[in-house]
Amino acid sequence: MSRRMKRVVVSSGLQEAEIRPPALLSEFKRLSLQDAIAFFGDPAQLVETPCPACGADAREAVFKKHEFLYNQCRDCESVYVSPRPTDAALERYYAHSRASRFRVDHYSRDTAKARRYHLLASHANWMGQIYDETGNRDARVYADLNSYSPQIFDEMHALGVFDTLLSVDPLLPPERESSAPVRTIARAELRDAGAVSAFEKIEHQFSPFDYVRRLRGALAPGGLFFFTTRTISGFDLQVLWDKTPYIFVPEHLNLLSIEGISRLLERCNMELVELSTPGQLDVQFVRHALDQDPSIRLPRFAGYLVTRRDALAHADFQEFLQKHRLSSHVRVAAKKAGE
Ligand SMILES: [Zn+2]
Repeated sequence: MSRRMKRVVVSSGLQEAEIRPPALLSEFKRLSLQDAIAFFGDPAQLVETPCPACGADAREAVFKKHEFLYNQCRDCESVYVSPRPTDAALERYYAHSRASRFRVDHYSRDTAKARRYHLLASHANWMGQIYDETGNRDARVYADLNSYSPQIFDEMHALGVFDTLLSVDPLLPPERESSAPVRTIARAELRDAGAVSAFEKIEHQFSPFDYVRRLRGALAPGGLFFFTTRTISGFDLQVLWDKTPYIFVPEHLNLLSIEGISRLLERCNMELVELSTPGQLDVQFVRHALDQDPSIRLPRFAGYLVTRRDALAHADFQEFLQKHRLSSHVRVAAKKAGE
């Protein structure tokens, strides 16, 4: 079986509250919504965009969230905000908003330990393994983009695979948080990298296509790009849809489908190495959303499953979602092929 179709099953006993503590998350959401009005409140400043995954224009408006319109691509079924804030407006937001500050000061630091235990170690092993199997051995530079979990560098350093570790435009400077030898650089300085990672970044890019294309230019031949994001193809997003509590602008402009992600990489001339959904939280997430908002009406089967069946059934079902690429947490490895 090719890695592309690999069925990844992961269970580390992850609990939603450990990496997304409800109090911190609701404060982050509150600030984000206020900041979104302050930074993007003028509709004249928003721009229309085609499907950020496949580039098609045909779409259907599917729901409105906090005054922003989410559309679904008729072709690849990705869901995306259009009209949306411009690239420049988004940059200003991430540099100056209270929500961004809050994420760095509280959210990232307070969840660092749980993230490291449950997520970063497995991200590092995953990247190391794929690099071993298919990477360019002469390109030993690893870079993480806009890190807010600098502990990823400790994990990467421990693997001993890369000579140089770079933190590119970090949200949280690595010096105090990581004991690994990491250098901080600006995006424009990045070149000839053997592996680059971007965790939970694609969803808030103005143009994922431009983002991946630019990044491709910074990779060595055969260089690898690793990313994680939320996919609209996943169980929790499919059943909660517009009622998903923690989907908002500008964090989630792009909720690409599994098919859309493949198309995006193809358009960017990147070869897909792995596209899997090792998410552990879909069922838990639906259950919690239902507890918090009893007015949510789930499709009958989903409602029955999450309210009437036990932990074993939920664990088995989550495993099924992982195996068949139906969880909303997706991870992707792609390779710079050709020129
Ligand atoms: Zn599309």
